[in-house]
Amino acid sequence: MRFKNAAFWSFTLLTLIFTSCRSPNKEAATLLIYGGPIYTVDTTQATVEAVATKDNKILFAGSLEDAQQYKNDQTQVIDLKGKTMTPGLIEGHGHFMGLGYNELNLDLINTTSYQEIIDAVAAAVEEAEPGEWITGRGWHQSKWTDMPSDTVSGFQTHYRLSEVSPENPVYLSHASGHAGFANAAAMELAGVQILPKDGIDKFDVKGGEVMRDDFGRPTGIFNERAQGLITKHIPENTPEKDAKAFELAVAACHRNGITGFHDAGIGRKNIALYEEMKAADKMRIRIYAMLTGFDKALLNEWYKKGPMIDPEHLVTIRSVKLNCDGALGSRGAWLLESYSDRPGHFGHETLPMDFVKETALNGLQHGFQVCSHAIGDRANKEILDRYEIAFDELADKASDHRFRIEHAQHLHPDDIPRFAGLGVIPAMQAVHLSSDRPWAIDRLGEQRIKEGAYMWQALLQSGIPIVNGTDVPVEPLNPIASLYASISRKTLKGTPEGGYEPEQKMTREQALRSYTLDAAYGAFEEDIKGSITVGKLADFTIYSQDLMTVAEEEFLNTEIAMTIFDGKVVYTRE
Ligand SMILES: [Zn+2]
Repeated sequence: MRFKNAAFWSFTLLTLIFTSCRSPNKEAATLLIYGGPIYTVDTTQATVEAVATKDNKILFAGSLEDAQQYKNDQTQVIDLKGKTMTPGLIEGHGHFMGLGYNELNLDLINTTSYQEIIDAVAAAVEEAEPGEWITGRGWHQSKWTDMPSDTVSGFQTHYRLSEVSPENPVYLSHASGHAGFANAAAMELAGVQILPKDGIDKFDVKGGEVMRDDFGRPTGIFNERAQGLITKHIPENTPEKDAKAFELAVAACHRNGITGFHDAGIGRKNIALYEEMKAADKMRIRIYAMLTGFDKALLNEWYKKGPMIDPEHLVTIRSVKLNCDGALGSRGAWLLESYSDRPGHFGHETLPMDFVKETALNGLQHGFQVCSHAIGDRANKEILDRYEIAFDELADKASDHRFRIEHAQHLHPDDIPRFAGLGVIPAMQAVHLSSDRPWAIDRLGEQRIKEGAYMWQALLQSGIPIVNGTDVPVEPLNPIASLYASISRKTLKGTPEGGYEPEQKMTREQALRSYTLDAAYGAFEEDIKGSITVGKLADFTIYSQDLMTVAEEEFLNTEIAMTIFDGKVVYTRE
């Protein structure tokens, strides 16, 4: 027996030594990435030297020496050359097609002369189909460095615009939204012509004006309600336009290092489009979609058939979005105490609270997560109350519900620990603080701002993760801006010194988690994405500089250098 045992062991040992030295036995990697700081968001090894992937999964993460063993002739090698890599970023609350349509329209917000507008339209004409409308928004003549010589009532005239776009109708909305600028082709479609000799303008619109020169010729400017004369001719979104907007949204995500997207409220049309795009192999982003609560028939259909959890992890539908109050800016957010700058006004509930309870019960019953929009402290409290009733009533189904509150912007101090207590995930878009905090104090006053607004660290300390994001197209998709807001609590101009309520800042590690692993958790996907861990999906974001160590003043200069989705490079910065 002794002899036999010894022989067995020496044989086994030999085999072990033999196989561990022999790299051909290792699986071959499709991609090998090394050469810069790699933050994994995996607590077992926070940073690694190299990552190897096979097809669309992570095969190895660790030392470069070990990673080399997965390399063969076919392996594509990416040397980061000092650039930084993290797991692919997840936009935790945005509107995907809103982003696409925003991309489809010309963005004129930064134009500083009439010539720039003409150049932008000329470029769009090159890309457009014959006769296709070109639409844009955001121009403002007061931002122009010089005015054209032939103005009428302080506005430019259409002639030069019409010259660069003779075949394509053009309509460009003013930054204020109160006026628009059309070219000759658009006016021709609308039948707007020179004023007849009798001087009677059949396009005289109550509450609006078709601007004309001294000879009665329309200048292209349509004020207020006269805008409808042109806009009613702009075609509704066609399937072709939807498909184009979709592809532009995918490209915008890749450009911004976004590989996953929580789409906050979609209806039938979008669902059909996503299915179509997936079938056409164009779903180069992982969409986690919430069904819009506005369409009750849609919800009932989905309750019957149950969630759609995509085995390919491209389009998953297992969640419902409810809209429970308005925004703080317009004083629509629903508050427990009245607005500081409008006593007696508390904002609005935009949905009967009974419907939140009903949806919560249905969600638990049929396997759907519920995500409710709430900005004000009253809306947040009421939703937590309804969720709690549902969790108690269907306790056996509520063990891993992952219900969320979208925005969770202003909370009563008593409600902060309730998120962790009930397991309700706050999905908070940090960049809103940068944009809104300077004036939000007028609405809420100092005490409420300090005790309950944008309570990131208090929520994290209480033990609940935060899902971050931008609410694109409300804010630009740029995750760098939202990460900067998370760690600095400053406006994007870098004010104030030290940040607003600095004790509520996230650490850089927390901020990165809120855009990766914690966002994945908010979609039941932490087992397949959100960290650089063997077996997870090969989605990565690569940055021009180390966002974990770069000085705060330099943080906003970080650029997305490369995006890898599903094991393939989908974006490289030129
Ligand atoms: Zn939203």
